[in-house]
Amino acid sequence: MNEMLLIKLGEIVLKGLNRKTFEAVLLKTIRYRLAGAGAFDVRIAQSTIYILPKDESADLDEAAERIGRIFGIVAYSRAAMTEKTLESVQQAAAAYLEEELESARTFKVETKRSDKKFPLGSPEISMEVGGYLLEKFPHLTVDVHNPDVVVHVEIRDFAAFVHGTPLPGAGGIPVGTGGKGAILISGGLDSPVAAWMMAKRGVELVAVHFASPPYTSPRAEDKVHRLLELVSRYSGRMKLYTVHFTEIQEQIRDRCPEELFTILMRRFMMRIAEGIAKKEGCGALITGESLGQVASQTMQAIGCTDAVTSMPVFRPLIGMDKTEIVSIARKIGTFETSIEPYEDCCTVFTPKHPRTRPDRKFVEFAEEAMDVEGLVERCVAETRYCKIGYHEEG
Ligand code: ATP
Ligand code: MG
Repeated sequence: MNEMLLIKLGEIVLKGLNRKTFEAVLLKTIRYRLAGAGAFDVRIAQSTIYILPKDESADLDEAAERIGRIFGIVAYSRAAMTEKTLESVQQAAAAYLEEELESARTFKVETKRSDKKFPLGSPEISMEVGGYLLEKFPHLTVDVHNPDVVVHVEIRDFAAFVHGTPLPGAGGIPVGTGGKGAILISGGLDSPVAAWMMAKRGVELVAVHFASPPYTSPRAEDKVHRLLELVSRYSGRMKLYTVHFTEIQEQIRDRCPEELFTILMRRFMMRIAEGIAKKEGCGALITGESLGQVASQTMQAIGCTDAVTSMPVFRPLIGMDKTEIVSIARKIGTFETSIEPYEDCCTVFTPKHPRTRPDRKFVEFAEEAMDVEGLVERCVAETRYCKIGYHEEG
């Protein structure tokens, strides 16, 4: 039996004139991501993408797993491809879905016929296939409202397909169709989830990480690499800029009031990230902040942080609870890595009593003790990047 994958496109089918662009990006992504899983023929027709194994090298299990992580796909099915005759569709349905049908009590057949030249209409096909299955599996009964198994039959231009319940796809829209954004990535739980959420909305990522050696260790940077590799299984490749932040943090410590350390540091992060983002052609900054989670994430502190940048700052987690964030982290596979205990530059020189409602005038006054522009310019100019490739486990 010829097994293959049938992919249903998500929101992109609604995008009118942009649809062609969206489809082209999605097809390119699929071809690229499947490259390591063997030889496949990937083609599109009537808002459905067909993934057909070309030879022995094609690993369909692996391909299905990868497809499940590509944004822009609402659902996909493993399907049997067969000849366009009623007999072969009937036989394919019985053979391909044997296991599911054996363990079910009720079923129904749903047919889609996009090849209008096929001699039978959709309701007739459903009836004929259903009748055949009832004979083959006498324990079954038909239930059109709430069946255990739905047998899907699709009569398309070049072949017929049979499949069971479709699997949920990653949803969202294809990465690259929503512009480019710079994600401020720490080694924590939140920012990898924020990165994933914006990639889901089609945003191509550039990552910016602040490190303060020797206060932070190379192992903390390595952790950020590994987190981004996990994110890249969804978002695709990205650049990672690592900013050396030690000098700025030491100056803040030496010259400014302790209660403002955190907010001052965050304002520097935004300015530097904005500089890098502009060089990279990004249209927004992204952070993993959630309202009220810590002192620097109150409404006043966020306002004070945003005052230093003219770019929109996307905070996809702003209204989420920790438990909700954790459940996404588990789902996307970043949780275990995020909880490894390495220090972050945010935990260097943390004030005992940070200001939760910083007054912008005070903060600006405190910054006068430093050459803000010079420090930022130098940091942006000196920062180097490395590439995080599209990374598949195993
Ligand atoms: P996270 O789990 O992402 O570390 P958090 O709850 O620990 O978040 P903070 O440490 O206050 O919160 O950081 C808030 C946001 O600031 C992070 O989500 C991230 O976007 C950014 N950020 C924090 N530390 C760094 C860093 N070292 N490099 C780059 N961005 C950072
Ligand atoms: Mg953190």
